[in-house]
Amino acid sequence: MSIERVAIIGLGLLGGSIGLAARERAPGLTITGYDRDPAVREAARARGLAHEVCDTAAAAVSDADLVILCVPVGAMEAAAQGFATDLPAQAIVSDVGSSKQSVAQALARALPDNAIIPAHPVAGTERSGPMAGFAELFTNRWCILTPPENAAPADIEAVSAFWTRLGARVEIMDAAHHDLVLAVTSHIPHLIAYTIVGTASDLEDVTRSEVIKYSAGGFRDFTRIAASDPVMWRDVFLNNRSAVLEMLGRFSEDLTAMQRAIREGDGERLHDLFSRTRAIRRAVIEEGQDDDRPDFGRSDHVADPSAE
Ligand code: NAP
Repeated sequence: MSIERVAIIGLGLLGGSIGLAARERAPGLTITGYDRDPAVREAARARGLAHEVCDTAAAAVSDADLVILCVPVGAMEAAAQGFATDLPAQAIVSDVGSSKQSVAQALARALPDNAIIPAHPVAGTERSGPMAGFAELFTNRWCILTPPENAAPADIEAVSAFWTRLGARVEIMDAAHHDLVLAVTSHIPHLIAYTIVGTASDLEDVTRSEVIKYSAGGFRDFTRIAASDPVMWRDVFLNNRSAVLEMLGRFSEDLTAMQRAIREGDGERLHDLFSRTRAIRRAVIEEGQDDDRPDFGRSDHVADPSAE
């Protein structure tokens, strides 16, 4: 089906970025938006995150061809129930949630009669809210679609074409596999950042001011990730529990092996791992998945490769 009217539910970082990107890159589309917070709706109007920011979810979706839920994964079901009776029967429903199996189940429960094509744009920052979005967020980033087995190819194609217009590259994946992959590339790294920042702030023999003063030694890069939205990330861990626990088991084993290498003075093992990880960093840059966007001054480091 051809998509002409898109409704965005939740106008924070992701919803706002979709609105701005669609208005800039897909001018033929009409974008409506809704957020449950009146202050967010006001800010969204002021920033032009949608052509029309509605005061009810029902008004936002009533003529939509595609509805995209951009709320925390734990809020997907309630948000979908909020407009279920007003949703056109032919509208495709999608989302941007960071975990896919639980969201697919939640949306299927709330909207049993509509086509549901879940999606996850693997793009974000540590910021949240209606002022955080920007039109380039999805440029050259991957958007993973996890359609159910019985999804109509035309619906998958419509959602895929929408994300391509926003500048993203699209990949189709099984939801369970998505949850495992993202556990290791996104969820565990966030858990490690939250934990190390928590550990440092709880130390008794190193003062808090020392931790902050000497953070350029590496700690500050963890603080950027650990500043991510608490509600969003609480929901991710509660909703992708089994994949996260599986990957965490693997990570704990590897951490124990590193602990042993240090205790035994096994420099070769440390050097081997650190050389392999350097190559991964190079590959990330070569693939275009890191760039010089200003986030926490990292742009300076990218511009000056000699900087530590
Ligand atoms: P955000 O900036 O906090 O925006 C979410 C917005 O949704 C908030 O304004 C929130 O309002 C609103 N909301 C919550 N429940 C609602 C409901 N029932 N109806 C309408 N609006 C509701 O969050 P975000 O970073 O855009 O994340 C949104 C989704 O994108 C999450 O599922 C997340 O997993 C996914 N995602 C995030 C990133 C990232 O890096 N941030 C990347 C990829 C995917 P309140 O503040 O009142 O709750």
